[in-house]
Amino acid sequence: TDQPIHTPDRQPDDPDAALRPKSLTEFIGQEAARDNLRVFIEAAKSRGEAMDHTLFFGPPGLGKTTLAQIIAKELGVGFRATSGPVIAKAGDLAAILTNLEPHDVLFIDEIHRLNPVVEEVLYPAMEDRALDIIIGEGPSARSVRIDLPAFTLVGATTRQGLLTTPLRDRFGIPVRLQFYTEGELSEVVRRGARLLDVAMADAGAREIARRARGTPRVAGRLLRRVRDFAQVKGSGQVTADIADEALTRLEIDSLGLDAMDRRYLTMIAETYKGGPVGVETLAAGLAEPRDTVEEVVEPYLIQLGLIARTARGRCLNDGGWTHLGITPPSAPQSGLF
Ligand code: ADP
Repeated sequence: TDQPIHTPDRQPDDPDAALRPKSLTEFIGQEAARDNLRVFIEAAKSRGEAMDHTLFFGPPGLGKTTLAQIIAKELGVGFRATSGPVIAKAGDLAAILTNLEPHDVLFIDEIHRLNPVVEEVLYPAMEDRALDIIIGEGPSARSVRIDLPAFTLVGATTRQGLLTTPLRDRFGIPVRLQFYTEGELSEVVRRGARLLDVAMADAGAREIARRARGTPRVAGRLLRRVRDFAQVKGSGQVTADIADEALTRLEIDSLGLDAMDRRYLTMIAETYKGGPVGVETLAAGLAEPRDTVEEVVEPYLIQLGLIARTARGRCLNDGGWTHLGITPPSAPQSGLF
């Protein structure tokens, strides 16, 4: 297949699943979130209750699904997973909810994409553990309340602000996930190499980590491709040189940016003289959905300090010009007098 290897979006066959950590101890990075979750899990277990509803937010590929699975495992309860766009009708959600066992974890990925009618069903389910359903039609219609087992909803979204306020307010535990440091990603790569039985030099792991966009899913994917190069071109061991050669061939540059990132930066630099330019305009120019630009492309470029989001639009920072190797058009002389 020709799926882009550098997008952090999940792919249908999810080859990363084999690398998923299975416990909080195995999970690398996100220390603050992990420490807090450990407390909430222990507390819920010792009280014999369902854990409070939890919302994970942050760019794709940072471990939201993985943490949801770990929570269920550490609580010793069942895990059910679905996603916002998949639940088409209120009845679909009602069917899922009424089939839960007490204290189960229900994971809803892309929860900001639930349709509003379905979302309405979720409010009483989260708050009162009840389902209000309408029986009959017209004047004889009446509402019936069904009790649900106590359960934990774990929602995942790319940005907290995408959720409606009533939905956001119903999560007791909001958790923001951060991009991973290079050191953490090195650990992710070394762990992945052990699981995939790849001989990995420390410098090779660091090279992959440095170019993985702060994202474990990308690190896993790069590891797999670099392994192929090491097998075919080298002795099988992943050295820094082999990693560099492989990643360069895959058009991933020294900062870990791919062709799309560079097109984005180049467009601001050359077409819009460094900005400001609106995100809609950029998305149209790149022929990408605005969501992808905002949720996938920009967060890492902002993290690196290459661009800034301003009220008037996106601007290229000094680091962005330097990385492109383009001299910014000279700023208009600001006369002092
Ligand atoms: P999200 O739900 O945020 O898009 P996932 O939980 O599906 O991300 O994680 C993507 C992949 O990255 C997982 O399959 C797993 O292999 C890997 N991964 C995520 N977080 C970690 C971590 N902390 N340590 C090691 N691997 C991780």
